[in-house]
Amino acid sequence: MIAAIAVARLPLDLPLRCRCGHVRGVASDVSPSNGFRFLCYCKDCWAFARFLERPDVLDPAGGTDIFQMPPGRVKLIAGADALRCLRLSDRGVLRGYTDCCRTPIANTAGAGFPIIGMIHSFADHEADGRSRDEVFGPPLCRIYEGSAVGPLPPDAPRRRRSGSSSAAHRRCSAGGCAG
Ligand SMILES: [Zn+2]
Ligand SMILES: [Zn+2]
Repeated sequence: MIAAIAVARLPLDLPLRCRCGHVRGVASDVSPSNGFRFLCYCKDCWAFARFLERPDVLDPAGGTDIFQMPPGRVKLIAGADALRCLRLSDRGVLRGYTDCCRTPIANTAGAGFPIIGMIHSFADHEADGRSRDEVFGPPLCRIYEGSAVGPLPPDAPRRRRSGSSSAAHRRCSAGGCAG
């Protein structure tokens, strides 16, 4: 048992990779308790995936699966030349993607902001050998679900009026999407 606990506490490195493999990196210390996973259905996240012609990264209701974490835990090891970013509105977040294969990688409010929202499509779960739920934990909330383009999955986390849930919702919104 002691050995199992020691293993569980090791820092968790998650390999990162764009679809074609040109851009690669690693996110360190990734675990459900070390970040915050949520689904964003805002129009800008949807428009971003459409712009990249990557609707495959969206869930059936048009949501983007995002894991918030400190930017210092993400290191690129190859392909930095292919990084691009754009803003969809004057005050919108910066949206990073790769030029090689148009993989969305992360959203950030800008240099110096303590959190980035890594988009699931940049995580290399195949190389990692673990599922998205295992690495990030289940989504803790969804935001802007009013602009979902399809029915939300029945097992989606629901907004409740309890304190913890509305705090989670505030935290999701603060981490930066449209609003
Ligand atoms: Zn690529
Ligand atoms: Zn969004």
